[in-house]
Amino acid sequence: MRREKEKDYLYITLHTELPYRYSAGRYMSRFLTTLRDEARILASRCTHCGTVLVPPRVVCGNCFAEMEEFVEVGPRGTLKTFSVINFPFIDPFTGVQRPVPYGYAIVQLDGCDNGLPHFLDEIDVHKLRIGLRVEAVFKPQDEREGAMTDILHFRVIGD
Ligand SMILES: [Zn+2]
Repeated sequence: MRREKEKDYLYITLHTELPYRYSAGRYMSRFLTTLRDEARILASRCTHCGTVLVPPRVVCGNCFAEMEEFVEVGPRGTLKTFSVINFPFIDPFTGVQRPVPYGYAIVQLDGCDNGLPHFLDEIDVHKLRIGLRVEAVFKPQDEREGAMTDILHFRVIGD
C-alpha cells in the first residue's frame, strides 16, 4: 500500500452550521425553571455530609452520595475571586462579541459551599476585592427564558 505524503493532501475549507439541543436533565431543568418562573436560585443539598452545590448536582462532589434535597440559596453572596475582562471575544451565550470591559467573578452564594461563575456589574478593579458582598440581579420576568443568563449579573452591595 502506498503511503501518501502529507504534502499530497488537499484541504477543503467550509463553514458548517451545527445547531443542536440537548436535555438539561432533571436537576438542571428544575434549577432553570425556578430561575425563570420565580427568580430564585436552587441548589442541591447532600443529606449525607451537608454539602450544598449550585447549580444542583445529582451526585455530591464531596462524598459521592446521591443528592436528593433541593434548597434555596442566595440571592446574596460573597465575592471569592474576580476579573475585569478587557479582551474582546465571542460570547458563547449570544454568539456575538461581548462589549468590553466587563466584570466576571466567582460568587459563593449564601447557604452554598461552592462558587458560581457569573458577570459583575462593577468594572473598576479598585472598587473590587475578595470578600465583598454581592447580590444577583435578575432579568424582568417577561424576559426570563430559563437560562443562566436570567441572572443578568451580580451587583456589589458592600462589605
Ligand atoms: Zn455529600
